[in-house]
Amino acid sequence: MLANKTALVTGSTSGIGLGIAKALARQGANIVLNGFGDVEGPKAEIAALGAQVAYHGADMSKPNEIEAMMAYAATEFGRVDILVNNAGIQHVARIEAFPVARWDAIIAINLSSAFHATRLALPAMQAANWGRIINVASVHGLVGSSEKSAYVAAKHGVVGLTKVTALENATSGVTCNAICPGWVLTPLVQKQVDAKAAALGISNDDAKNLLLGEKEPSMQFTTPEELGELAVFFCSPAGANVRGVAWNMDGGWAAQ
Ligand code: NAD
Repeated sequence: MLANKTALVTGSTSGIGLGIAKALARQGANIVLNGFGDVEGPKAEIAALGAQVAYHGADMSKPNEIEAMMAYAATEFGRVDILVNNAGIQHVARIEAFPVARWDAIIAINLSSAFHATRLALPAMQAANWGRIINVASVHGLVGSSEKSAYVAAKHGVVGLTKVTALENATSGVTCNAICPGWVLTPLVQKQVDAKAAALGISNDDAKNLLLGEKEPSMQFTTPEELGELAVFFCSPAGANVRGVAWNMDGGWAAQ
């Protein structure tokens, strides 16, 4: 379905971003990976699916590096047809104790990076009259949780940016939507499981169940594979008039 299309997925060396990149690769898209840590493993996973794969290591907190990444993707594959703004970090602390540098980093990586990549991707999408921008927000783009002020503020911002991007392009073939996962067992969440296990002196499994029990009625983690299939739907012909939605896959979290 996505042969001859190019998808750039930020923060795709791990977790949800890698899951979405693999789902788009299975549909035939060329993939531009981005993110830190091991690069060769994720590249090999995408190549094994028969897709062409490239990588740019832009730090998504730096607008000039985002510009370099978007220029690199255009040089490699002609243009970016599908932009998935996914890179994100977390920090957990009450507001009065929240480190200012962590606030700034979360707003830059989880929110401003989506603005920068979007503004740079839009002209080519508009010229082609086809594009898909998918913002990986969170259920925290819809509801709050204590000790996550920067994350919740950034993710609510991402949902707002999604709506404006969708509206400004509503008469064109360019759509923009947000995906709002609940708990997904990636390194980002495993750190929170570890912190709970250590603080309460309980096992890894008990900490996971406690985390799910606090928020997610299904008592199940959403998977990167499931989120990848939602991204594929947004890219499909049936998704052509889905514009500006914030679609949660959260085991019932926000339904409460
Ligand atoms: P993860 O830690 O597994 O992956 C994060 C990715 O972002 C990695 O590839 C990392 O290298 C990259 N990254 C981090 N900082 C970066 C930077 N400055 N520049 C470029 N890349 C950077 O986390 P994940 O759980 O897969 O999270 C992906 C997205 O999904 C995030 O936006 C997160 O907020 C969101 N999300 C996660 C969950 C969850 O439960 N895991 C739930 C809702 C939303």
